[in-house]
Formats: sequence, C-alpha cells, structure tokens
Amino acid sequence: MSETTNINELGEFGLIRKLTSKFERFNGSTMVGIGDDAAVVNQEEGVMLVSTDMLTEGVHFDMMYAPLKHLGYKAITVNLSDIVAMNGQPKQVLVSIAVSSRFTVEALEELYEGIRAACNNYKVDLIGGDTTTSLSGLTISVTVLGVAPAAKVVRRNGAQKGDLLIVTGDLGGAYMGLQVLEREKLVFREAPGAQPELEGYDYILERQLKPEPRVDIVGQFEEMNLVPTAMIDISDGLASEIFHICSESQVGVKLYEDKIPIDQQTYDTARDFNLDPTLCALSGGEDYELLFTLPQASYDAIKDLPNFTVIGYMTDKSEGYELITKDGKQVPLQAQGWDSFTTK
Ligand code: ADP
Ligand code: MG
Repeated sequence: MSETTNINELGEFGLIRKLTSKFERFNGSTMVGIGDDAAVVNQEEGVMLVSTDMLTEGVHFDMMYAPLKHLGYKAITVNLSDIVAMNGQPKQVLVSIAVSSRFTVEALEELYEGIRAACNNYKVDLIGGDTTTSLSGLTISVTVLGVAPAAKVVRRNGAQKGDLLIVTGDLGGAYMGLQVLEREKLVFREAPGAQPELEGYDYILERQLKPEPRVDIVGQFEEMNLVPTAMIDISDGLASEIFHICSESQVGVKLYEDKIPIDQQTYDTARDFNLDPTLCALSGGEDYELLFTLPQASYDAIKDLPNFTVIGYMTDKSEGYELITKDGKQVPLQAQGWDSFTTK
C-alpha cells in the first residue's frame, strides 16, 4: 500500500499549493494567476469568449471507470471545445472543486495531473478556482476564457439555405468506448478481481476517456481564410447538434447516412454489441468534433481535406429535417432515445 494523506492534514492553502504549484504559464495575457484575490488577464485584441461547465460524480462521470487523471484531462478539454466551437482560441481556465473527505490528497493530485496535461497540451493557463468540501462525492467546475477576432466569431445561427454541412474527424467512437467500459464494470461487479478485457478497443476508449478539442481546426480555418456560417461542437450526438444549428439558423437539412464518418473500430464494436453504428454517431455524443456549415462556393477549398467530411446540406426551413438512408429512403431525422439504440 502506498501512503495516503488526508486532505485535512494539509489545510486548504497547503492543498491548493500542492495541487497547482507545477503549472506553467503559457500566455502573455495572463498577468496574475493563482494566489491573489482575483486573476488579472490582459485584454487581447478581439473579443473575449467565456464558457463554464460543471461535472458531478455519479451524474457526469463514474469513479469506477474514469481514472482521476483522465477525468481532470476531460474536464478541461470539453471546456476548451466550447471556445473552439465559437472559432476562438482558449487561453485561461479556472477550476473549482467540491470534494468529500473520502478523497485523499494523492487522488486530487492525480486529478490535477490530468488538468495539467490538458493545460500543457493546449497551452492554456490555470489562473484560479475555488476549493471546498462536499458531503459526498466530487464536483468539478471549469470556466474557460478564450479570444477571437470579433469578425471571426462563429455562432449557431448563421447557416443559410444551400450551405454545406460538414463534420470533422469521425463519430460514435466515444459512445462505443463507454459501452465497453460499462460492460467491463458489470463483469467486475459479478467477479471482483476479474481482469478487464479492453484489448483491441484502444481507439474508442481513448475517444471516451481522453477527448481532444479541435483547436487545430480553428488554425486551419485561419490559414485557409475560411469562416463557417454556423458551428457547434458535438457533445450530445450529431442529430441533436444538427437540430441546434437548424433551429437557431431557421433552416432545414438533408443529411446523408452513407457520408457520416465512422471509424472501423467504432463500426465493428457497435456490430458486436448489436448496435446500429449510424445511431451511435447520431445519438451517442461526447466525440467533441466540430459540426459547421460553409457556402457551397467553399466546396473546392475543402473537398480534399482529410479532416473534413461533407455530410449534407441545409435546405429551406419548410423542407424539415431529413435523413437520406443508405438504401436511398428519405426519413425524418430523429435524435434517438437510449432504448432505441439496439438493432432489432
Ligand atoms: P479566496 O478566499 O480569496 O476565495 P482562495 O483561498 O479560495 O481565495 O484561493 C486562493 C487562490 O487559489 C486564488 O487565487 C484562487 O483562485 C486559487 N484556487 C483556489 N482553489 C483552487 C483550485 N481548486 N484550483 C486552482 N486554483 C485555485
Ligand atoms: Mg475562494
């Protein structure tokens, strides 16, 4: 057994110092970080983007299969993804935790190792937060600050009839990773000590446990001088995100099932679980890819880019939300409930 330290032994300030002392500072706009009554951030050119998210144990994550390091990493990256979805660059984060005495200092250090890994990978600065006790479980709240030139900010509401609907990367992997983890959790409950069978699922487990925000795509837009007409990140599943863009932009959509990008491992695992891979992409969520629209005139500029897949186009609002299936049928696009996931 390795040594464990009770949180109370360190006291609040000792704990904060222990958790945050190893963080580097990457951005010139961070003038004062942790340690004063407030952080000081120099306002860069452009506008400030601000977003916040709260994660609660048992609701948003499960300590059985989310190692704390991964949890810390994911808590940061899902927030960075919200800035990216506005076509901005994330710069600073604040992290607040409410933690029960069941957690040791070492466990919290692991959480902050993950937070630090994400901050290092994406060159964002941890500039503050709050630490408090909870009666049970762990709650993590992350606030992220980002910047963008005012003219480059992309909202959900700018899609036009005729625009191309484009998605980055591939979809459904994070959901299938979760299915594998949940299966192993059941096995472990039945037979504690059983070795988890996670071999061959590396890609989808990584998609679930260590999602990466598409900061690279913001750079790519900049380089190509492209500004999407509307954009959103895929946290809840493709169908639901398409609905957000359509309703905010007052347009309809035609989505082609055979164009939806699905990785081979996602596809094969879905089949093994008797799940329809398309439904996993449409309703699975947590892939943190970007979904955006561009005028048709941009087609030549993006058609050969490996990161981008055109999956449909926007129509008049009166045409509704349609899915063109692999066998050419036109059906209403739906965000499926969890129970309609299995193939009959
Ligand atoms: P105050 O009493 O003024 O709210 P705190 O004692 O809560 O100050 O925090 C001291 C410093 O440590 C502040 O800069 C605060 O932003 C930072 N801080 C507190 N908790 C955390 C945390 N969990 N993660 C990162 N920074 C934190
Ligand atoms: Mg405080």
